[in-house]
Amino acid sequence: MYMAITTRTISSLDDLKTFIKEGKPALYHASKTSTVIPFDQIEQFYPDKELTLVNLSTLPAVMEMDEDRLMIKGPVTWKEARGFCHEHGRELPMWPTEELACVLSGIATSATGERSFNAGSLRAQVDEVTYLNHRAEEIVLSCQKALDSFEMYDKIQKGFREFKNAPFPYLSMEIDLMIGTEGQLGVITEAVLRTKPLENTEVLFIKVPKWEEDYSLHIKIMNKVQEFRNQFYCVELLDSNSLEFIEKEKRPDAEGDLIFLEYGVKLQDFVFEHFVTPLGLEDQVFVMEAAKFKEFRMEVPRGVQEYNSRNGVVKKGTDVQVRHMDFRKLLDLYRELAKSGIRYLLFGHFGDAHLHFNLLAKTDQVEDCTKLMNEFYDKITDMKCSPFAEHGIGLIKQNYVRPFYTKEHFDTFKKLKDLHDPKRQFFPGGFMEMTP
Ligand SMILES: Cc1cc2nc3c(=O)[nH]c(=O)nc-3n(C[C@H](O)[C@H](O)[C@H](O)COP(=O)(O)OP(=O)(O)OC[C@H]3O[C@@H](n4cnc5c(N)ncnc54)[C@H](O)[C@@H]3O)c2cc1C
Repeated sequence: MYMAITTRTISSLDDLKTFIKEGKPALYHASKTSTVIPFDQIEQFYPDKELTLVNLSTLPAVMEMDEDRLMIKGPVTWKEARGFCHEHGRELPMWPTEELACVLSGIATSATGERSFNAGSLRAQVDEVTYLNHRAEEIVLSCQKALDSFEMYDKIQKGFREFKNAPFPYLSMEIDLMIGTEGQLGVITEAVLRTKPLENTEVLFIKVPKWEEDYSLHIKIMNKVQEFRNQFYCVELLDSNSLEFIEKEKRPDAEGDLIFLEYGVKLQDFVFEHFVTPLGLEDQVFVMEAAKFKEFRMEVPRGVQEYNSRNGVVKKGTDVQVRHMDFRKLLDLYRELAKSGIRYLLFGHFGDAHLHFNLLAKTDQVEDCTKLMNEFYDKITDMKCSPFAEHGIGLIKQNYVRPFYTKEHFDTFKKLKDLHDPKRQFFPGGFMEMTP
């Protein structure tokens, strides 16, 4: 028997403040695209606890452009934010693949995306965040001011700063209190983001062998692209298994995997002279204009989703980022997983050594799949890596992050919760309430 989960729809800021003052344990959500919070099975995680699911997607959404900064209030999606920027001749430095997710939730989950190769994670473009604290007071946090010393942890984040996200939130500047803390310290209501001029881009595709058979060219390209972090916006991989989800007539003529990179159109000669020719790739590349690319890129998730719902597939995926020097080790672990007999695909943020390996398990394969994933995460804890560099921890990844936490992490989380959420009303059961 589960306790009833109640739902609440919020339609104004005053409504939200009134609800917060009630102090009820609640999980706030916007578009519900999180892959680490199973909203449709949430009661399993709260068998004996009260919980209100608070829908913020009905709050008024507002956007304003203040010179080159975008001010957002309420449930603005990435798609809407980018569209608004384009009307002003501006662009966001990065956005997640799921454009129907909301920007303010993206701050809570410390979203990253394809363009993080060039732009870093969302943290790098947030100037200000406004949130409601446990007394429903509006607090403005700045990217310029450092946190109080107790709220920072310097020693334990050392060695992890090179990853887009660590297994725990980075805590240095004030805005960090809301970035990647998954709504456990308050409810974000506004943000100010930096933008950049809108630019025409194109995408260069490189045909490479299947990674399962030979990944030597993959490694060569991975090393070389590091020299071009200022020129290439993204460097991504779609392996041959991913390409199979694209309809035949739309699929490029490639036997193996595709690595693709995006850059400003005006840089084409530079890219061929300094990247394609030195690597001897002239005969295995083709260029696609950005608009066509956007359509093409969406074909894979669309195809996978269709396949999954047709076949009752339970998708289990990885989100690991490793250091470049460990990329070979990561691919070897994925090669082991590929031998399981369960259908799989490998894709993602190749230039950042951050790939998603998805196992598409049919109902009778789910148990084996869970075992394989558990074994995989056991093996990666020996590497200095980030187990969930993009999609966060939520409810379903907590056991996998535990080995990365020390006493200092648990102590800091508790102190933060005591200070910012004394009634434990913000996302009860989140990773900050984990105990050693
Ligand atoms: C196909 C697909 C692709 C994806 N690609 C990416 C990707 O490239 N990069 C990436 O980072 N993620 C990606 N995700 C994951 C997901 O889109 C992100 O985690 C996103 O930030 C969630 O936004 P949402 O509006 O759906 O939030 P929800 O799912 O509604 O909520 C997610 C979390 O945010 C918290 N939260 C929401 N709103 C607030 C608020 N106002 N204040 C405080 N806390 C809040 C909630 O408590 C919860 O912990 C992808 C998901 C899918 C399904």
